[in-house]
Amino acid sequence: MNFAELAANLDRMEATTKRNELVAILSEVYAACTPDELRPITYLIQGRLAPFFEPVEIGLGERLLINAVAAAYQVPKVEVVKLNKQVGDLGATVQRLAPGGPRDTPDVVDVHSRLSEIAAAGGGGSQERKLDTFIGLLNDLDAISAKHLVRITLGKMRLGIGDPTVLDALSFARKGDRTLRPVLEGAYNRTSDLGLIARTLWDTGEAGLEALKVRAGHPLRPQLAERLPNPEAVIKKLGMVGVQPKYDGLRVQIHKEGQEVSIFSRNLESMTEMFPELVSAAAKLDVTNVILDGEAIAYNPESDEYVPFQETTARRRKEGIQEFAESVPMRAFIFDVMFRDGTDLTPLPYERRFEIARELIRDSETLQTAPLMKTDSADVLTRELLDNISRGLEGVVAKRLDSPYQAGARNFNWVKLKRNTSGQLTDTIDVVLLGYYRGKGKRAEFGAGALLAGVYDADKDEFATITKLGTGLSDQGWREIHGRLSSLEVAEKPARVSSNFVPDIWLEPAIVVEVLADEITPSPRHTAGMTASGPGFALRFPRIVSMRTADKKPEDATSVREIREMYEQQRQPGRNRPR
Ligand code: AMP
Repeated sequence: MNFAELAANLDRMEATTKRNELVAILSEVYAACTPDELRPITYLIQGRLAPFFEPVEIGLGERLLINAVAAAYQVPKVEVVKLNKQVGDLGATVQRLAPGGPRDTPDVVDVHSRLSEIAAAGGGGSQERKLDTFIGLLNDLDAISAKHLVRITLGKMRLGIGDPTVLDALSFARKGDRTLRPVLEGAYNRTSDLGLIARTLWDTGEAGLEALKVRAGHPLRPQLAERLPNPEAVIKKLGMVGVQPKYDGLRVQIHKEGQEVSIFSRNLESMTEMFPELVSAAAKLDVTNVILDGEAIAYNPESDEYVPFQETTARRRKEGIQEFAESVPMRAFIFDVMFRDGTDLTPLPYERRFEIARELIRDSETLQTAPLMKTDSADVLTRELLDNISRGLEGVVAKRLDSPYQAGARNFNWVKLKRNTSGQLTDTIDVVLLGYYRGKGKRAEFGAGALLAGVYDADKDEFATITKLGTGLSDQGWREIHGRLSSLEVAEKPARVSSNFVPDIWLEPAIVVEVLADEITPSPRHTAGMTASGPGFALRFPRIVSMRTADKKPEDATSVREIREMYEQQRQPGRNRPR
């Protein structure tokens, strides 16, 4: 497939807001490509060159791209800058500036490999080499192809192709319907690599997908926790449980393969560079290969205290990693092991996996196993919960002792019990910002008066509105939020957003915010959970608790299914009513 053909299809995808059409067009693309094109296309359509967990960056930001465009099309740089300001999207700007007429464009594999060359260029003079290669590419492409090339390079596709859409499209391309989705999803949960999955499906079919196993170096999607309203409900539903403190840090998946250690965040981003102290502790483990799951949290040796989440994530800034590693070193509380010395441990019962983790970790300062106690008594669980809260922890996680590790699943194998600021048990909700209203009066000064927020509907792969947010932020907080919003502003409602509200400014769904609300109520206007016959859900008196953007992708926001469950729980008699 040549790149122009792919670009034309990307244009068709851009023109539709209907998910079924998006899936149909993408499945046509897959059906038309050769096996060698499957991987490059799968990454390119998501604005990447490799699976998400590989830290491959093209390394050409907007400023450099503007230089490249000016050079390639021989237009003054100021003109590019001016038009880009007007249009608000460098891709569309480039499309306008590119000389007209069709060209003999290179194929997708060639474009992918030239972009990979750009990504790999390093050392002295690499910026010039990157730019030269990019200018060469621009000169080979027609206007529409150039637009999409620029968007791929910036990683901003504006198409709304989420992972579920890719999985559906693969199923349609091979089977003509969605029936392959469960097998594809299982393989995806174990390997997190959509390109590998596409290629495997073409080469060896369903059996090949089943045979794709967990392996060190490839993150698997983390097992997630469900919620229940109180300790009684937990014991009633799960019986005997293993109870652990719930640490408020960063989820880390630690992989060791030979001497190579890699660390992944909850959303499978590579964090290896950020945590040198975890890397060296893991390198010392006496195993050939291993995958561990845990929560990392910064520890201040001077005050002998754990540092809150927000400060833990301050490390994301590249500077000062080494200083941080010395002054507030990370510790990781390991609570699971999924793979060891070539064996997939995920089918084993939790109790056994935990034992294996304990044997191999032999607690050091840096790597420790999270304490685990067993109980089938609601009273003991309550005591444990209150005890952990009084020690400054977030709460507890109760785990079914006989459960396997179910990659990517949020189910009752794990249940979290937290408390909110008022001391009652309940949980916060993670929402995605979808737009904002310009404020009046003082708020207008900061650029945003209220935010339109939504939750994720995994079945439809879209974001549906659930609330408007106005309170819970200081003036400084508003200023900061507004600063971050400006790069996400888009002229029209983004492809994967379902909303009856029209904010002043739409936002690309990217920022996840943690909110606390009094109640979930039925709503005739919000689209979260809305069906042809029933209303949606809204939040009553929502307030922002924190800007939890560091470790959550928009798809990691609370899901419509969870909201429905929380709504049902709230209606049960004798419930611990959220406030
Ligand atoms: P939440 O992010 O509120 O859905 O809570 C689940 C998260 O709690 C997990 O993704 C982990 O990052 C974190 N966590 C902290 N301690 C534990 C633990 N002992 N077991 C499992 N998850 C934990």
